[in-house]
Amino acid sequence: MDANVIIALTNPAMSLVFATTFFLLWRSRRQAYIALLSASFLAIGGGFLLHYFAFYSVSLSKLVANLMFLAGGVGFAIGGLARFDRQPPVLSTAVFAIAGFAAFTWFLFVQPDVVWRIYMINFAFGAITLTMAAELRRAPGRNFVDNILLGLLVFYGISFFVRPVLVIWIDGPYESYENIHQSLYWITLTFSASLFLLIFALSLITAIALDVMEELRLESHTDPLSSLLNRRGFEQGVAEALRASRRKRMAVTLVVCDLDHFKSVNDTYGHAAGDFVIVTFSNCMRDCIAANQIAGRIGGEEFAVLLRGSDRNSGRLFAEGVRAAFGLLPVPHLPDDMRFSASFGVAEWRDGESVAELFLRADRALYEAKKAGRDRVRVDNPLLAPAPYDALETDRLEPAGR
Ligand code: GH3
Ligand code: MG
Ligand code: MG
Repeated sequence: MDANVIIALTNPAMSLVFATTFFLLWRSRRQAYIALLSASFLAIGGGFLLHYFAFYSVSLSKLVANLMFLAGGVGFAIGGLARFDRQPPVLSTAVFAIAGFAAFTWFLFVQPDVVWRIYMINFAFGAITLTMAAELRRAPGRNFVDNILLGLLVFYGISFFVRPVLVIWIDGPYESYENIHQSLYWITLTFSASLFLLIFALSLITAIALDVMEELRLESHTDPLSSLLNRRGFEQGVAEALRASRRKRMAVTLVVCDLDHFKSVNDTYGHAAGDFVIVTFSNCMRDCIAANQIAGRIGGEEFAVLLRGSDRNSGRLFAEGVRAAFGLLPVPHLPDDMRFSASFGVAEWRDGESVAELFLRADRALYEAKKAGRDRVRVDNPLLAPAPYDALETDRLEPAGR
């Protein structure tokens, strides 16, 4: 087999592999942009195939091939940006694609000129790629892989302008399509497209893999009933927040809370009704916290909030606020006039104290609140020595006189 044929098959083969990969990814993720990327790889691969192995008429094959290139390019732009929840600039992308194609057609049929055809289609591609890069630059929260993708787009966007001009200056001008596939233009185009397809696909596959990992991490840290952090997520968040607060010498306060007489809600109205109370309390707490605070459901009907930048007094005020707000709320599917309460324990973090010690002191305050009659807030007395684990673990929520 001719070496040129093997080279010509590289991009179609690679595109087919990536189209299949993205199709399989789409089957498990069901996100439209992944399907679009798969179709775009097919279009680009088909374009390369048709460009080399012309059928019916050379002109028509080139026309359709370039149409497929442009469709693939637009698909890459829309699909790639959708990964970042960004809309492509539809108008400019459409204008570049249509203008590029119209100019290509003009220099194919009206005023035949291979060099201008090459320029027009490459410039259209360059403009679409740079527009996509400009939009991607505005995407917030880009990570390392995203920045590689951005760099790739800028590099290729510019190369679509520089490469054809340079190559035609060195190797051109080309008079017709005859022997175009042996030209420096075709070889550099094939090579640069191969590299682009490879890096573009790999960065998007990596980005999707990172998305999946982040989703799994979030899922493993989230409580499905309340949508708050679960115990694992909360404890990890607390450990990170304490490290940051130590650096910034910032006050941090932990508030723990426990719904009062919750067992009797379950016993009287059923477990599903109990769940509604949990959800009502969780929503109430979420409404009361600022965006940078961490809230979690750390047990069945036990919750906790870490207040960054708050001392014990602000912690107490916060807890009073949640307590008062929750005490006014009706719960869906339970009698309209029925209200519930929760008890709160507050402890301010002491420098050098471990997460477990901080929890112990907040739990001790919560125990005091329960013991004093529930529906109240107690702040841990920092002068008291930490209570031994056993005393708290065994009868923390079973205060005498209940
Ligand atoms: P106290 O005022 O002393 O806190 O009394 P309590 O009844 O709230 O405390 P207790 O610890 O005895 O009961 C907690 C109950 O919470 C027991 C358990 O059946 C219930 N529970 C735990 N997780 C869930 C849940 O996800 N949904 C529902 N509906 N109930 C739960
Ligand atoms: Mg309780
Ligand atoms: Mg409890």
